[in-house]
Amino acid sequence: MNDPLNLRANTVIPGGVNSPARAFQSVGGNPLYAERAQGPYLYTTDGEKRLDFCLSFGPMILGHADPDVVSAIQQAAVHGTSYAVTTEAEVEMAELIVEAVDAMEKVRLVNSGTEAVMTALRLARGYTGKDRILKFSGCYHGHIDSMLVQAGSGVAGIASSSSAGVSEETAQDTLVAPYNDEEAAEAVVREHGSELAAIVVEPIAANMGLVLPKPGYLRRLRELADEVGALLIFDEVITGFRLTFGAFANLCCATPDLVTLGKIIGGGLPIGAVGGRKEIMDHLAPDGPVYQAGTLSGNPLCMAAGLATLRKLKALNPYEALAERAQSLTSRMNDAAEATGIPLVVPTDGSMFSPFFRESEPLNFQQVQEADGERFVKVFHSLLEQGIYLPPSPFETSFLSVRHTPDLLDQMADAWEKALSQL
Ligand SMILES: *Cc1c(COP(=O)(O)O)cnc(C)c1O
Repeated sequence: MNDPLNLRANTVIPGGVNSPARAFQSVGGNPLYAERAQGPYLYTTDGEKRLDFCLSFGPMILGHADPDVVSAIQQAAVHGTSYAVTTEAEVEMAELIVEAVDAMEKVRLVNSGTEAVMTALRLARGYTGKDRILKFSGCYHGHIDSMLVQAGSGVAGIASSSSAGVSEETAQDTLVAPYNDEEAAEAVVREHGSELAAIVVEPIAANMGLVLPKPGYLRRLRELADEVGALLIFDEVITGFRLTFGAFANLCCATPDLVTLGKIIGGGLPIGAVGGRKEIMDHLAPDGPVYQAGTLSGNPLCMAAGLATLRKLKALNPYEALAERAQSLTSRMNDAAEATGIPLVVPTDGSMFSPFFRESEPLNFQQVQEADGERFVKVFHSLLEQGIYLPPSPFETSFLSVRHTPDLLDQMADAWEKALSQL
């Protein structure tokens, strides 16, 4: 902690960070300070270079400082950095997204994933005329008051606030049920259906580590929403353009009414998006009664970075190759655990994975919390010393970029073997 930058940061920034996960509270030790990043590597002020599996918590699917993205930003910057007048780039971005995401006929661009979900929830309330939202424990939807909640007294039902500063009245508009539990969702919908504006879910939960939906679960949520006239919102801020060119919903079993995006579509610049059927989206201001606005929404630099990223992803179509690489990495991770007799599962989907030190794949947040967190912390630090940066929490998902070549993944697997052997 005698890093002078750490001291300066903590003097003027609460906790020394502008977003809490960066403070390393889940893993302990000194947080990293980035100097620069290039391709698969993060270079930090301690003079180290680390193979980065955090990748800014998801956006950097092309790797850091992709030359096409950088040059698009440079070219855009020369022409001005904000107009608050619509640009062709915004229209192109919207066209590209709407074409790629089956569930979207129209899309509104905003500045963060949080804003996208906030808008989706307000829109669902404005459209249905109802107030309550059902969410699932362990799913993260940004730092919106009504989403900073935990299960109340029962397993499922009315929520209580999980953050100071969130009023109990606000929390009580949210209902909470465990993820992957059809019966719990049914019970909540049966009791509160007449007040339910929306069911919001990460269709693949990637903010409690990676928890995959059980077969049929998302379809059941679709049916439940339909039964009571609630909207189904897929929060795809992480999964959008991560698993296919478009939303995970394109590949899946249920069509959501609204989809939120963020992270990848901004190419590393701030962005969010909410979209869905025209009839719902037209409820947004200025045409409709649901107010939403943003001085910097559709910002030209964000559009440039996002468009360059999406165009490159479309041309490369790296999804199958990324999934194969992730599979071979995680099978080596599993083999190492088997060889040492350490219980481990590594749920994987496309280029996302997360290790849990437990016997079986977790289905919900409770099971995630039952994994051996101490082992994760030890492995995290061993990897860090060996030049590998995993997300600094057992509740975050690891990512590959197109720059994570097989030889680099071999390096990761070797480091993983060594880390497990030290346990
Ligand atoms: C990251 C994330 C958010 C919040 O996005 P920000 O840009 O950090 O506000 C919301 N939902 C999901 C599923 C996310 O992964």
